[in-house]
Order: sequence, then C-alpha cells, then structure tokens
Amino acid sequence: MGAREEPARPLEGLRVAITGGAIGGAAAALLLAARGAQVTLLERVEQPRAVGAGILLQPNGLAVLYGLGLESALRRYGTCVNQIAVIDAARRPVLGGAVPDYGAGLDHAMGIHRSRLLAALLDAVAAEPGINARFGASVTGATAAGEVTYSQHGATHHLLADLVVGADGVHSRIRDAGAFGAEARHTGVTYVRGMSGYRVETSDCYEAWTRLGLFGVCPVEDQTYFFTSAQAPTLAAALAARDLEAFRRLWADAFPPSRPILREIESFDQLLLNEVVQVHCRSYVDGRSALLGDAAHAMYPNLGQGANSALVDGAVLAAELAATPGDLSAALARYDARRRPGARAVQDGAARLASLVHLHPPVLHPVRNATVRGLSRVIGRAGTERQLRKYQQEDPTWLLSSARRAPATITA
Ligand SMILES: Cc1cc2nc3c(=O)[nH]c(=O)nc-3n(C[C@H](O)[C@H](O)[C@H](O)COP(=O)(O)OP(=O)(O)OC[C@H]3O[C@@H](n4cnc5c(N)ncnc54)[C@H](O)[C@@H]3O)c2cc1C
Repeated sequence: MGAREEPARPLEGLRVAITGGAIGGAAAALLLAARGAQVTLLERVEQPRAVGAGILLQPNGLAVLYGLGLESALRRYGTCVNQIAVIDAARRPVLGGAVPDYGAGLDHAMGIHRSRLLAALLDAVAAEPGINARFGASVTGATAAGEVTYSQHGATHHLLADLVVGADGVHSRIRDAGAFGAEARHTGVTYVRGMSGYRVETSDCYEAWTRLGLFGVCPVEDQTYFFTSAQAPTLAAALAARDLEAFRRLWADAFPPSRPILREIESFDQLLLNEVVQVHCRSYVDGRSALLGDAAHAMYPNLGQGANSALVDGAVLAAELAATPGDLSAALARYDARRRPGARAVQDGAARLASLVHLHPPVLHPVRNATVRGLSRVIGRAGTERQLRKYQQEDPTWLLSSARRAPATITA
C-alpha cells in the first residue's frame, strides 16, 4: 500500500473514552487527541505518578514517545543502552548484542525509571486541551455500543463515546465487559523487580541465565534496575516467607554479581512481585470497543516488549482511525488485523524464552547455553537483526513519523 497524506485533524468530533491512564492509555490519548479526537481518560488511581522500578524502552516504543515530543524529557533521565545481552552465570555471552540501527536516530534502547516515564506522559496529557483526564475514576462497565459507567468520589457516572479503548491492564474491565474471545492464563511464575542504589559499572543491559533462573540488570540514572524470575522452589519459598536475607543469599550463590545490587535493598517491601498472566484474545475489537496493551496481550516479560507493544498499539490505532475517519468499524478491523499477529509473535517468542530460562533439570543448562550460542553464530548478525526487527512489530521509523504526524506518513 502506498503513502497517503492525512488531513490536519481527521478525528475531529470523535468522542473516545479510554480506560487506564498508564503507559498504554496515556500514549493512546495523546496520539488520538493530536488527530483531533475528544478524549476522556479514566484512571482509577488518584495520583498515578508513584509507580516503582524501571523499564527498558526499545526502538519501537521510543519511536512513539519521541514522535510525541517526549525525547528531551526522556533523555534527561533515561540511560541509553546500546547492548542487550544474555549471559551465563560465569558472564560468558550466550545471545544478543547490539541494538540494531533502525534509522532516524533509533539506534538504542533506554533504561528509565517508570515514574519518570509516566510523569512525562501525564505532563503531556495535562497540556493537551483535547484530553479530559479524570483520576480516581474507576470504570465498572462498558457496552459495545459505547456506554461507559464509572465511579468517582462515591458517585456513579455514565458517558457515551464513539470509541471505547480498554487500556486497563491485565485484569481489564473493558475486556470482561465485551466479546473479545479472551483467555487470561495464570502461569504461576512470579517475577521480582526493584531499584538498587548500587550503580552497575556497565552502561549495557543484560540478563544472566543461571541455575536459579534469570537475573537481569539495567543501569538507570545513578541506580540499577534489576529483575529476576522466581520459579526455583528455593526462591519461591524465600519470597513466600518474605525473607529478604534468603533471597539475597540464594542469588549471591547462583550469580555473584547480584551481591552488591541486592545488598542495597533495605526491606522486603522494596521488591515488587508480579505473577505473569498471559492474555490471548480472538479479537482486539468488539463493536465500538478496542483493547490495547496488557488488556489485549499481556505476556512474559522476557523480551521486554509489553509496554513497548502497548505504545505500538496506540500508534497503529490512531493511524488506522485517521485513515478512514468516517468508517470506525473498518478502521477497528484493520487495527485488529494489523496488531494481533505481531503481538502474538512477540508473546510466543517471550514464552519460548521463558521456558528456555527455566529448562529443567538445571544440569541441561550448559547444553542449552551451548546450543543457543551455536545457533546465534549460525544465523549470524543479520539473522539476529531480522529477529529483533520482527519483535519491533512495526518499522520504528514509521512509528516515529506517524506519532509525529509528519506529512505523507501513513503507509501500511
Ligand atoms: C518483571 C517485569 C518486567 C517488565 N519489563 C518490561 C520492559 O522492560 N519493557 C516493556 O516494554 N515491558 C515490560 N514489562 C511489561 C509492562 O510492564 C506492561 O506490559 C505494561 O506496563 C502494560 O502497560 P498498560 O498501559 O497496557 O497496562 P498497565 O500498566 O497495567 O496500566 C493499566 C492502567 O489501568 C488502570 N485501570 C485498571 N483498571 C481500571 C478501571 N477499572 N478503571 C480505571 N482505570 C483502571 C490501572 O490503574 C493502570 O493505571 C515488564 C513486566 C514485568 C512483570
């Protein structure tokens, strides 16, 4: 399909209700409002800025955020990362390496504190006259015809929208209220995240595949963002007992570089624990409703693509709506057809990586590492880049120009 030029405000008059004002919902609100939509953003948390730990933004997500004009705000606090590697417990490389250069300056990933990212998004939301943001507003129901019910400060409200967007995370109300053919699978696998006052020396991001599972590290400002899996029974027991000392000791034995990182953690409450829930939907749309982000495709965190994919969703949704402003159902059908296969491939890739990380029994790990190392040599740098490009789901340069709304950018 060729490039075509968008009118200045193609979504003028479109009333959009977005449930969820975190990364996916806030970015979608900005992308839609920039095209003229009249957006109501409903977020149940009264002051959603205080979210913990870090996040790795990849070129696809960065492209959307830079396109929205947030580059300088993100660069102020984010750490640009040029290498994302998998290593073994002895720090020998297993997989990965350089972030490919996608063009237009999109040649890096970025580690950033989530609260910095959310603050940048919410400041932009506050400055956008096309967005009416309501915090402390908890959505309780929605219909495929566009009626949304929410409660705020003890009162119940209804609003009517032309489009309802569910950006309300893994336990989405909007998903529950519609016919999306959704399946939410609890994996029983817990991940732990935290910020440590110890700053790793490297400016790269890595994850170590150890006999206990995964220990990942990313430098953020003068701190270190770390994330670990906790499937090993010993780790699970330490977490169940809220035993920080045992958690530290187990990791220090399995992966000594974790020692100074975890030493800086003062209390168990500084660890964020999340069970991985996988969400698969037969459709991301139902009538006037559309899902994005974790509401549509929550996944294992192993490719670091959950939030990045949510940002891609918002960009594609806005572009498809703008392409046929008078035909909402055609635009939503194209959104679904364009996003579901890409997001599913990432979900499957992340699940495959997660099962490799936890291959049982651990005695097989050296064979696993040698095989993965050998395979990555065989496919070479070009093959690895092809795979990474696939996980970006959309061309990052298209995402950048589409989010910027440069002329003649709508190619599919
Ligand atoms: C250990 C770990 C590491 C990860 N690392 C990365 C990474 O490096 N890179 C990456 O891209 N992704 C990563 N992810 C995934 C990423 O965190 C999620 O995919 C992302 O946060 C999803 O964003 P979202 O906006 O779709 O949903 P959420 O962040 O879940 O936001 C949903 C919002 O909706 C609100 N809400 C919910 N219900 C209602 C309601 N009824 N009414 C009103 N508001 C409501 C919530 O309060 C929340 O603000 C990681 C995940 C884990 C567990």
